[in-house]
Amino acid sequence: MAAWFSSRERQSSMEGHLQRYSKRIFSWVFALGGVGLLPFALLHWVRGNLLMAIPVALLVVVFIGFATWTFSGRRLDSTAVLLLTLFCNFVGLFALINVRELGFYWIYPLLLAVAFLVPWRWSAPINAANILFTIVFAADSAPEAHLYRLIITLFLTYTFTVLFSYNIERQQQALKDLAVHDPLTGIYNRRYFEQKQEEAYRHWKRTGRKSALVMIDIDHFKEINDCYGHAVGDQVLVALSEFIGKQLRPLDLFFRLGGEEFALLLYETTADQAALLSERLRRHFETGSLDGLLPAFTVSCGVAELPEHGSSAVWLEQSDEALYAAKRAGRNRVVVAPSSEERGDTA
Ligand code: GH3
Ligand code: MG
Ligand code: MG
Repeated sequence: MAAWFSSRERQSSMEGHLQRYSKRIFSWVFALGGVGLLPFALLHWVRGNLLMAIPVALLVVVFIGFATWTFSGRRLDSTAVLLLTLFCNFVGLFALINVRELGFYWIYPLLLAVAFLVPWRWSAPINAANILFTIVFAADSAPEAHLYRLIITLFLTYTFTVLFSYNIERQQQALKDLAVHDPLTGIYNRRYFEQKQEEAYRHWKRTGRKSALVMIDIDHFKEINDCYGHAVGDQVLVALSEFIGKQLRPLDLFFRLGGEEFALLLYETTADQAALLSERLRRHFETGSLDGLLPAFTVSCGVAELPEHGSSAVWLEQSDEALYAAKRAGRNRVVVAPSSEERGDTA
């Protein structure tokens, strides 16, 4: 138990560290953007070119404001990032037209910043529009030799940014998948379970519909390992996961919490409905019909409906208590935890 706790704490602190790290980089992009543009806002102001000074100063204020917001650790909403990126993008393009060919230098950091700030599905069309706009504008004002170079370098920068951001997003997705799945069975792991439990609470507060939690533990699993070996034990865990996975509705979630302990998080399900499903699963395993080649086993289940007055830790505790009541009562059975009303819980 102690080992499990320490590894879990390490995992969540690593996750927190990664989030803080990417947030810091995000803040730095805005801070540097703001600082980089500041001299130009002042330059245009001193020269009395208000048409340029105002949009550039606006960008500086937005960039520095956004950087301060994120540095202070406040949440970044993805819609806000998208809207701000679009806003800055158009102000940037406006400035580009006004400074004529001198503005072309700015299009490159603009392409990079857009590719960094929003997902590639958004940055690809935004940047394509930016490039098209720049080329149409340059066709009028730039000398031919410059125009060709501009087109080719813009095209290359665009292709590289799309490929980079696509690649990074794919890797992020792969990392995320690794972080939430159990390597042996391929089902969700304990870390994801905790997140989803919180979500089930939010779902209940939003819709008034409760979820049920079922803890499933294989009975005397140690004996299977002792008699048939660890590899066969592993096969039992995989076969059980595959079987249960096939019985679930798309909304239901299935986790391996560790060892031979599993959990089902059943959205919009009462304790009675969850008990019926658990009983069906229990009977199936009892008849030994999992796979003729694997050793027979039974399971014990503890069911608990989301407790209204309590946290997800209390919910887990209640289903755990029900599971251990099933074990104490002789195993191979389903026990339902008393509901909030039966317990007489109050806020
Ligand atoms: P109970 O009916 O009380 O649940 O008894 P049990 O033997 O199932 O429970 P116990 O907690 O005593 O033993 C669990 C066993 O599960 C011990 C451990 O070796 C085994 N185990 C844990 N993780 C794995 C795994 O990934 N693969 C295999 N094959 N065995 C595992
Ligand atoms: Mg067990
Ligand atoms: Mg166990």
